[in-house]
Amino acid sequence: MKRVLITGAAGFLGSHLCDRFIKEGCHVIGMDNLITGSLDNIEHLMPKKEFEFYHHDVSKFVHVAGDIDYILHFASPASPIDYLQIPIQTLKVGSLGTHNLLGLAKAKKARILVASTSEVYGDPLVHPQNEDYWGNVNPIGPRGVYDEAKRFQEAITMAYHTFHGLETRIVRIFNTYGPRMRLNDGRALPAFIGQALQGKDLTVFGDGSQTRSFCYVDDLVEGIYRLLLSDYAHPVNVGNPDEISIKDFAEEIIKLTGTDQKIIYKPLPKDDPKQRKPDITRAKEILDWEPKVSRAEGLQKTYAYFKDYLEKNAQKASQI
Ligand code: UDP
Repeated sequence: MKRVLITGAAGFLGSHLCDRFIKEGCHVIGMDNLITGSLDNIEHLMPKKEFEFYHHDVSKFVHVAGDIDYILHFASPASPIDYLQIPIQTLKVGSLGTHNLLGLAKAKKARILVASTSEVYGDPLVHPQNEDYWGNVNPIGPRGVYDEAKRFQEAITMAYHTFHGLETRIVRIFNTYGPRMRLNDGRALPAFIGQALQGKDLTVFGDGSQTRSFCYVDDLVEGIYRLLLSDYAHPVNVGNPDEISIKDFAEEIIKLTGTDQKIIYKPLPKDDPKQRKPDITRAKEILDWEPKVSRAEGLQKTYAYFKDYLEKNAQKASQI
């Protein structure tokens, strides 16, 4: 039975990865400091003997007893609002945290996969973005704490690979969505669905002409799983190339929720990328992977989750 350490286990992506590795018959050690993660996301795993949870901040020395075969480093704040509220932790988990986990991987002779991001491309001047593009990042802007920590993460991961011969994998994750996203993390999708469900107007930043390409979480998890099991150490983009403007996206969500909310326009945050779309040629070639879930299908599932979540919370609030 493989033993897998997943950091950020109580977060959106981390919790889905825990589910997947348990389904694959692994023993999963989940770790999270619960700054942005929630135990609600892994509550269903707690009774399982194949799962254990450590409440720990990976920016501090990480100790795990026994063997580890794989480490997946997914601990990090991951929305622009989080970066503004907890900039130092964001820098530390991507830099010090990654260093600690690389050290642990070396000590345990484990393979490590680190979660990088399309943010390493910054506000890209090349479109779509392939892995050979070096990016256009403002190191001292509001997103700099995340972007530069992730760029450092890639650098130190490659250094451990070349200098220590460690088995490393780097996934560059593009915008991903699905159940267990935080309703109030400030990201476009939970913001729009939450607003529509609560009868509020949808807040589009700027004129809404900026683009993103949204990947459903199950597709992402499959790509990550394949990358971990591959022998490829260079970065691989994993995301859905189906690009849409944020204004059109807001309109899709209004249609999906069947509400008659309007769109209101707010100022565009500083350094908000104007366009983003992954070139997934490498993932197709090396992992034989491409996304399978259409936006219509993925949004439907995500909407059902948020609807249920809000109803349950309303019930809880009325019981207090
Ligand atoms: N956005 C928006 N309204 C919101 C939240 C986000 O128009 O209430 C925009 C945001 O400015 C960006 C896009 O939606 O252009 C995607 O934002 P998100 O935070 O989801 O991801 P990121 O910018 O990190 O790709």
